[in-house]
Amino acid sequence: MNNKKGFTTTTLHSDRLLQPEFGALHQPIHTAVTWGYEDVNGLIDVFQNKTKGYAYSRQGNPTVTALEHKITQMEEGRATVAFSTGMAAITATILSLLKKDDHIIASSYLFGNSRSIMQTFIEIGIEISFVDATNIENIKNAYKPNTRMVFVETIANPATQVAHLDKIGDYCSDQKLIYVVDNTMTSPYLFKAINVKASLVINSLTKYIGGHGNALGGSVTDTGLYDWDNFPNITSVLRDQIAPALLGITQIRKRGLRDGGATLSPEAAHSISVGAETLALRLERICSNALILARFLDEHTLVKKVNYPGLVSHPQHKIASDLFHGYGGLMSFELSDKIDCVTFLNRLKVVIKSSNLGDTRTLAIPVAKTIFHELGAERRKEMGIEDSLIRLSIGIEDIQDLLEDFTQALSF
Ligand SMILES: *Cc1c(COP(=O)(O)O)cnc(C)c1O
Repeated sequence: MNNKKGFTTTTLHSDRLLQPEFGALHQPIHTAVTWGYEDVNGLIDVFQNKTKGYAYSRQGNPTVTALEHKITQMEEGRATVAFSTGMAAITATILSLLKKDDHIIASSYLFGNSRSIMQTFIEIGIEISFVDATNIENIKNAYKPNTRMVFVETIANPATQVAHLDKIGDYCSDQKLIYVVDNTMTSPYLFKAINVKASLVINSLTKYIGGHGNALGGSVTDTGLYDWDNFPNITSVLRDQIAPALLGITQIRKRGLRDGGATLSPEAAHSISVGAETLALRLERICSNALILARFLDEHTLVKKVNYPGLVSHPQHKIASDLFHGYGGLMSFELSDKIDCVTFLNRLKVVIKSSNLGDTRTLAIPVAKTIFHELGAERRKEMGIEDSLIRLSIGIEDIQDLLEDFTQALSF
């Protein structure tokens, strides 16, 4: 099969084309922790990166490899490393590539735990500037001679700001900065970060790619666009053994995965891989449900504000329309001051009160009291997060049932 096939066709056939045993259509779940070799030279060659093969499951497993291959195809990238969670992928990527006194320019609207791990990196000597990444000028103004990386998300959680993704890509490419795009909220179905010149693409596989709220996972994909040969932090051992194009992803696999140890289990890799087969179908339905609900809430007299990039009133509606194939399933809204958000949430019957994103089921959470609680009132105010803000992750239910649920819950 050639590369010209569509997104879903390619995903469906990806395992089979790796030729698993007996013509299996799914890569089997390989539970072995280690692999044995008749001739020890085979094992030596694997250790010395001379042949592909498996030695120990922390750094490579055939079930996980098949998923990595699938994600590489979905992102149209060059190579992928999977991790036990999205946070593990982010942590491993930054710790494998950067050193003390290197500087990162990061979006100030990062996912809560990403923002918080950045604080840990600051404490161990990495410099980080947080900027409003919806405007390229803020990125340019934060540049310093020791800047190595720009780190942004596509659609920010919970307030849905969209980063100036294409302009940032042009700038990073001119300045030779590693451009990391966390594509979790859009997924490779709605957005190909390679098209805006991303160097590395992060996905929390827990969210849309796995899609069913039954497995944790994360990944980083090298798009092949960054010139690792000229990147100073590549270890000399790797330079002697690895093709220049694969230096970055190999350093992430060795330092981040093998040494860091946050390995994706083969069972989770299998669940995520099966979930990925329906990514496009789920997202078509999710985006359609989300747009209908966003418009419904936007017109409701008891709703003060709706954040959804699909609404014409959204500040980055144009760039979202230009870059994304749909506006995603993340939305947030503020209720009128007359209504207590806890009372409202407890009235919802179909929508589940839960903290995940990207599930098949619609989930709702009061942001200030939960996921952004630790930040404190002052930081929440800076980030524009009101106490009444509710985050929704739209699912694939029948739209009529969702509309009825919101209608009854808003009948005060
Ligand atoms: C959930 C999420 C993560 C972290 O992923 P986990 O799999 O939960 O560790 C990272 N980035 C974004 C944008 C997310 O939504």
